[in-house]
Amino acid sequence: MAESEFDIIQHYFSGRQPGRADVVAGIGDDAALLRVAPGSELVVCMDTLVAGVHFPESTAAAAIGHKALAVNLSDLAAMGAEPAWATLALTLPASDPDWLRAFADAFFTLADSHGVQLVGGDTTCGPLAVTVQAHGFVPAGQALRRRGARPGDRVYVTGTLGDAGLALHEGVSVPPGLQARLDFPQPRIAAGLALRGQASAAIDISDGLLADLGHLLEYDGLGATLQVDAVPRSADFLAGLQPLGAAGEALFYELPLAAGDDYELCFTVPEDRCHAVQRRLAEIACAGTLVGVIDEVPGIRCHRSTGEPYHPSSSGYRHFNEAG
Ligand code: ADP
Ligand code: MG
Repeated sequence: MAESEFDIIQHYFSGRQPGRADVVAGIGDDAALLRVAPGSELVVCMDTLVAGVHFPESTAAAAIGHKALAVNLSDLAAMGAEPAWATLALTLPASDPDWLRAFADAFFTLADSHGVQLVGGDTTCGPLAVTVQAHGFVPAGQALRRRGARPGDRVYVTGTLGDAGLALHEGVSVPPGLQARLDFPQPRIAAGLALRGQASAAIDISDGLLADLGHLLEYDGLGATLQVDAVPRSADFLAGLQPLGAAGEALFYELPLAAGDDYELCFTVPEDRCHAVQRRLAEIACAGTLVGVIDEVPGIRCHRSTGEPYHPSSSGYRHFNEAG
């Protein structure tokens, strides 16, 4: 590397943010020293993005810097946590100043917009990979969990689904709005906070609605019925499908259900709280759409608005196990 590890930390990562009051020591000591407020639980998550696996080699540095943090903040959102700190492990094939500047600028733009301070990390040389660990707080006992749904609870999703999947789809001329959904996903932190004490269970949609709702259902041995025409799709998504003809009709269902990478929230709400939830989400200008109902029969049954069943062709991205 042209610059040493020390130079990289100094030039691109150190001293770039206003310090949070709960950071006793951040970047520069042997470890970060952090203060957790009494009565809070610490929520911790970590995600790794590997070049060629989680993003194409050609992905812009800004998109990588944003997404590496965004996917972690999305996990905090799904727990109803308020984000606070992050650490960053960066493995770089070379020290490229333009790449590092664009990466760090995007990382800090997203971090600052959520009050997240980068408090440490590790910088090494090797094939490009980025690991971020994010930390947040919830008042003790108030975290949203994957478990907790009950038969009769309504299933909701935030925002729109399928956008990132269409941007990744080969042979599609991608509207810019869809490319932005793929490269710069916006974690649903405000929605997660609004759902505390309201949602019975929640998960973020990284692998596709069917796969992630499936994880949520697994915990309580439950099932769900989904109205696949009710799943919210964006105007850009519909415009992108238009030129594809019959192939577009299949993607209209497949991508929102199974493509993943949207980083919206899927959550369940007892029927008597649905109005309150809709009101809370409206207050933060977050779309929340009713897409189904929890029941006692394990598995997910999909229906069209005509009432006929819909049989998904795939149920989501699986690491290590494409076939199963
Ligand atoms: P050590 O050799 O003690 O592990 P390092 O030289 O790896 O220390 O790191 C020095 C300081 O810089 C530490 O506080 C570490 O957390 C921080 N740091 C290293 N890499 C990064 C990075 N990519 N982003 C933020 N902080 C980093
Ligand atoms: Mg040390």
